[in-house]
This record gives sequence, structure tokens and C-alpha cells, in this order.
Amino acid sequence: MTPSVAKLTFVLLAIGWYAIRFEHARRSRRVLVRHNDRDMRENVLLLISLSGLGILPLLYVVTGFPRFAHYTFHPVQAWFGVLFAVAALFLFQMTHRALGRNWSVTLQLRQDHKLITSGIYRRIRHPMYTAFWLWAIAQACLLPNWFAGFAGLAGFGFLFFGRVAREEQMMLQTFGDDYREYMSRTYRIIPLIF
Ligand code: SAH
Repeated sequence: MTPSVAKLTFVLLAIGWYAIRFEHARRSRRVLVRHNDRDMRENVLLLISLSGLGILPLLYVVTGFPRFAHYTFHPVQAWFGVLFAVAALFLFQMTHRALGRNWSVTLQLRQDHKLITSGIYRRIRHPMYTAFWLWAIAQACLLPNWFAGFAGLAGFGFLFFGRVAREEQMMLQTFGDDYREYMSRTYRIIPLIF
């Protein structure tokens, strides 16, 4: 394992992620949105998350910016990054498949929206966000730069903590007792812990 292979792994993670999302985003465009909570706050959070998980680390991979934040590369750390990256992609694909036409990039509900509570959604309510956390951890392990490596955890942290309660509120308003009961028997992102 070398720094270049670690950087390449991060780029492959980004490409794989995009390939999975592209297909689902294309399909979801055909499904009508019947409720939309997207506002300025959501747009800002999405932009912060995209910068932290995508723009800043890719800028680092291409240009080495910011050089002052470099630290010594550790191959074992990078191997952990590979494991987290594979797990992130795997989980991301599973959650997209499970949500199907009910998925939106933001706080929206689709026409004939169905509450998914089985499969990967059986024990945790936000496995897609778990996948994003795994990406952010992979990024921190793969890029030996305090700024570019940790930008993902910070950036997605903003989106996650700024959105998750609102999303649950939206689901409660729509699915009422079904979602309340679902909440009572599930965790947010890590089974038995959080
Ligand atoms: N928070 C979920 C989904 C992320 S996509 C996860 O991390 O896996 C965001 C959209 O998914 C939300 O706007 C909501 O419309 C939809 N959604 C969230 N949880 C859902 C569920 N259990 N069943 C169906 N749709 C859900």
C-alpha cells in the first residue's frame, strides 16, 4: 500500500458511489414529489456535505492542497480505509435498492410513498447515512492530510445532525403511529448503540 494507491482507492470510491447514485437518481426523476421540505437550510447543508466528502478531498488528490496539513502515511491505516470504502459502497447499494422509488436526495416524499421497515431498514432507520459515515471514515483513513482527510466527517456531520431530526419529524407527520412504532424498535445508524 502506497499513498498513491490510497488516493486511487478514494477516487474509485467516489466513482462507484456516483455510478450507484446516478442510476437511482435517473429513475427517481420520473416519480412525482408530493411533499417537499427542501429549503435554504437544506441546500446549505447539502453543499457543505458535498464539499467535505467530494470537492475538498478530490482537490487534495489532484493538487496536494493544503500541503501544510500533510502527515506521515501509515499503510495499515490506509488498508482500514479500503475496508471502510468497500463496506460503504456495499451498504450504499443495499439502501438504494431497498428504498427504490421512495428515495430522494433531500427531505421529500414521493407519490405513493411507502415506509420501508424491513431488510437493511429493520434495525436501523438511517442505513444510507451509515454508508455516508463509512465513506467519511474511509476518507480519513485513506488521505494523510488533516484537512482533506477529516473534511468528510465534518461536512457530513453538518448534514446528518442538521437533518436527521427534521427527517424523522417529516416521517412522523406522514406515517404517524407506524413510524412511531418503527422508531421505538430501531436505532438511528448503529444497531444497539446510536
Ligand atoms: N434516512 C434514510 C433515507 C435517506 S434518503 C437513510 O439514511 O437510509 C432521504 C429520504 O428517504 C427522505 O426524504 C424520506 O423521504 C425517505 N425515507 C427515509 N426513511 C425512509 C423509510 N424508512 N422508508 C421510506 N422512505 C424513507
